[in-house]
Amino acid sequence: GLRDNGGVSASLDIPGWRHVYSGKVRDLYVPDEAETEAAADRLLVVASDRVSAFDHVLEPGIPDKGELLTTLSLWWFDQLSGGDGGRGIPNHLVADHVLGDDDEPVELIPAAVRGRAMLVRSLDMHPVECVVRGYLTGSGWAEYRAEGTVCGIPLPDGLSDGDRLPEPLFTPAYKAPMGEHDENISFERTVELVGAEVAAALRDTSLEIYRRAAAVAEARGLILADTKFEFGTDAHGVLTLADEVLTSDSSRYWDAAAWRSGTTPAERMASFDKQIVRDWLAAHWDKTGTPPELPAEIIGRTADRYRELLQRLTGG
Ligand code: ATP
Ligand code: MG
Repeated sequence: GLRDNGGVSASLDIPGWRHVYSGKVRDLYVPDEAETEAAADRLLVVASDRVSAFDHVLEPGIPDKGELLTTLSLWWFDQLSGGDGGRGIPNHLVADHVLGDDDEPVELIPAAVRGRAMLVRSLDMHPVECVVRGYLTGSGWAEYRAEGTVCGIPLPDGLSDGDRLPEPLFTPAYKAPMGEHDENISFERTVELVGAEVAAALRDTSLEIYRRAAAVAEARGLILADTKFEFGTDAHGVLTLADEVLTSDSSRYWDAAAWRSGTTPAERMASFDKQIVRDWLAAHWDKTGTPPELPAEIIGRTADRYRELLQRLTGG
């Protein structure tokens, strides 16, 4: 298909690249040996405008979402790779251009997807979604209300939806094969899946990135309530941050002033993420069969919030 609709419903014919996989939101391409300059271990990760909630892809897409998320991911990768006291976090990005014969840069990202694609190294991915929660809400809040725990970790009594946790928690989930639902797992289960050494590295690195990112967000009047990372191991055995990072798809961001002054959960958790979509869907769908189409008003509000987040974080 060649429709330029943000790739909501189709993978693209991209000269030099072959489509190999579509997740709920992103489409992956590998170099087509015959035609491309890119190395064989390269992967083109193209973010579409598709939006998913409760593990379902919804219709229609959110205009410009793929580009907004890619811009935000690239900005965060850059923030995290730099010094400011902390160590650089190795990530999967590779340069998106080479120098040609005349010393002019040659773009490696195909024009059809420029702005919403990342050129990365294909990694041996760990099947664990590395969730970090600094605040109690969503599935964490549901479990706490029922059991007094989050992913089996006991918490003090008396917490409310949206409260700050005593300290950030690493609450991994098993990344289930396509079509199945991801499930929360204990740290012990994580050790069984990836080994003790990798499990500890996933936990420690995830908590470190969360702390650094939360501080950056706080300086801009934002709360990073929770987020999810994915890691892989590269050809040299280095644990490497992959996928998207700290986007409004993979994270919950709230307005810090609203959180401090709000009295109801809705007021406190004024969000810059797809919570608007989740809330609307939860109120209009019983989670069986095909989800209903999102109304234009919800699409518009979500797009506005995604844009506002990028502006507040990056000033761009
Ligand atoms: P699923 O993989 O179950 O479809 P998803 O819906 O989250 O999950 P997307 O986020 O749409 O999938 O697609 C991105 C895919 O690319 C994910 O499977 C992710 O693990 C994978 N991925 C991201 N970065 C890399 C990388 N550097 N090397 C290999 N795979 C990667
Ligand atoms: Mg994903």
